[in-house]
Amino acid sequence: MDFPSVTIDLAALRNNLGVVRRLAPDSRLLAAVKADGYGHGLIESARALSDADAFGVARIGEALALREAGVAHPILLLEGVFSAQDLAEAAAFHLDVAVCSFEQVAMLESFAAPRSLAVWLKIDTGMNRLGISPDRFVDAHSRVSRSPAVRTLRVMTHLACAERLDDPFTSRQLAAFDEATRSLGLERSIANSAGVIGWPQARLEWVRPGIMLYGVSPMPHTSAAELGLRPAMTLRTRVIAVRALREGDSVGYGCAWRAQRKSRVAIAAIGYGDGYPRTMPNGAPVLVGGREASIAGRVSMDLTAIDVTDLPDVAVGEEVVLFGAGLPVERVAASVGTIGYELLCRVTPRVRREVIGAAS
Ligand SMILES: *Cc1c(COP(=O)(O)O)cnc(C)c1O
Repeated sequence: MDFPSVTIDLAALRNNLGVVRRLAPDSRLLAAVKADGYGHGLIESARALSDADAFGVARIGEALALREAGVAHPILLLEGVFSAQDLAEAAAFHLDVAVCSFEQVAMLESFAAPRSLAVWLKIDTGMNRLGISPDRFVDAHSRVSRSPAVRTLRVMTHLACAERLDDPFTSRQLAAFDEATRSLGLERSIANSAGVIGWPQARLEWVRPGIMLYGVSPMPHTSAAELGLRPAMTLRTRVIAVRALREGDSVGYGCAWRAQRKSRVAIAAIGYGDGYPRTMPNGAPVLVGGREASIAGRVSMDLTAIDVTDLPDVAVGEEVVLFGAGLPVERVAASVGTIGYELLCRVTPRVRREVIGAAS
């Protein structure tokens, strides 16, 4: 059985990297490939994005997998390390480390190997997740910059709501970062994808895009297509049954959808066992044979019903696109109360993977 399948288009990744380059021509580019390259495959994504200047991952295991695959780029551990042993491993594998807390500052100070580490000191300008608070930043900076283990020092912060262009919070974060770091003469980094797209002031020496590289717009009012981004992941399956229903008939578990008229329902081989959310509501969009239709009733583990009453020629074998080419994951995610990031990350291993668009 060759479905469901998830297609990863490496040419789209390369195209999207070009979009970032055009938006931030003077910045170096750290490509976020954490969470298995946002579900696209860690190694394949890194190879397709080899024009990036560096990669960013969340966990040391992800970085070591990249090294094992022969990726020689700088790799930043975006959250830093959480033990002296991991710090030694990071140095041994030439991984850059974020320093986001005084625990990590202390670890760095007691690390013996001189000039062995590139460090990105993170300042918390309002996200209140990770990072040194502005009032303690001078102290952290002076301790880190005097640590013999540090070879290169950069500073970074992370934006909390860069996708909202009218929210003054981002301006306050930018100002706080500038105030704390302006006089240091260090390379600086602020922008995630939404920062790259929406906040030219945030495109400093380094940008750190993730989601846009995978062809997804983080901006609520600007589509990926308008930005020149192409979706890199498409989740597909096929229709395996078609049923005729009378008015009043119900479909699936909990009888969660009821025919308001004489209807036709197509049963697609996809479900939450494949990563398609069980919480997908009635009416959520899906493409059947390239035309839009809507989810009917509860998504089950292996099967999903689609109302195709208005597409009378749909038959067994017809292709179904859950998201990707022709149906932006942003739209599908919005209908289930989440963001494209989550749907990309949650496709399960039983879905057959197909990789296209490799550079010749
Ligand atoms: C994941 C991540 C990014 C990329 O964010 P996107 O919204 O996917 O562009 C940038 N910086 C940090 C610190 C991250 O963890």
